[in-house]
Amino acid sequence: MTRAEGTSLADGRRRVAGAAPIRSPTQVTAIGQAIDRWGTAQGSNSRRPELPWRSTRDPWAVLVSEVMAQQTQLARVVPAYHQFLAAFPTPEACASAALGQVLRVWKGLGYNRRARNLHHAATAIVSDHDGVVPASLDALLALPGVGGYTARAVLAFAFDSDIGVVDTNAGRVLSRGVAGRALRPSEAQSLVDAMVPTGHGWQFGQALLDLGALVCVAGEPLCPECPIVRRCRWAARSRIDPDPARGSAGVSGAQSTFAGSDRQGRGRLVDALRNGSLSPPQVASVTGWPDDPDRAERIVAGLIGDGLMVRDGSGNLCLP
Ligand code: SF4
Repeated sequence: MTRAEGTSLADGRRRVAGAAPIRSPTQVTAIGQAIDRWGTAQGSNSRRPELPWRSTRDPWAVLVSEVMAQQTQLARVVPAYHQFLAAFPTPEACASAALGQVLRVWKGLGYNRRARNLHHAATAIVSDHDGVVPASLDALLALPGVGGYTARAVLAFAFDSDIGVVDTNAGRVLSRGVAGRALRPSEAQSLVDAMVPTGHGWQFGQALLDLGALVCVAGEPLCPECPIVRRCRWAARSRIDPDPARGSAGVSGAQSTFAGSDRQGRGRLVDALRNGSLSPPQVASVTGWPDDPDRAERIVAGLIGDGLMVRDGSGNLCLP
């Protein structure tokens, strides 16, 4: 955990006018306001598909959406989000379900550890917070599987706190447009916190994510459409030097190949278990490597270790 992730909300809003400010406080404020105005102007004409979690301030729904949207395309998240909240409308409903039930509803999203983490987080919310999603950064960060981005997203998008969020889209805008160089996580967080116009935490955060997703896209950005093009450091250099977003805080690198990976085998196995238990001789072929039982066994051991699979009294494998 970085210092910024563990800090209080008040600390998180420290201004970036430190010993070597990335930009002057006046410039940072002006950039934040320009992005905020752009987001407001987009309004219902936004080219981004309608995202259902934007019409709620229910912190549980926001938490679910943020966990789901990590590493999964939004087109797949939207129907899963509705299904999940229909099954588990509150932390208490989720916590009182078996993890296997939660994993079944998680079908199609991949990265099943996230479902386990959400289940653990729901359990902690019920046991430690009377079933109410906490509204402080430290308490959110203490929930199992909740990291700096997710905690801040819940604060901004459920509680309308004036706190910035840095995902891969926001990270591109910050590094390219505001700093003109790659940023460390603590720098990116301080910078974005300082950009949030007072009272506009939700609106600014959504605008920044949209700007990165729609305009300051990976690859070739659409600079003529950008509200901060005149202030953009990378554009000012005609983008002739390497992309500052590469390796910058929050910006995802290239994903490892899925086909043929252990991750693929793990996904196949959990998928099969959603339909019922498996006997040990079935495992190698279900993972996709019928001629490599050792690899299949390794995957089984990993899934059992992660709590995503158990053996029943007969030695068959099933969801917990
Ligand atoms: Fe990104 Fe271009 Fe906007 Fe700069 S001007 S922030 S590179 S879209």
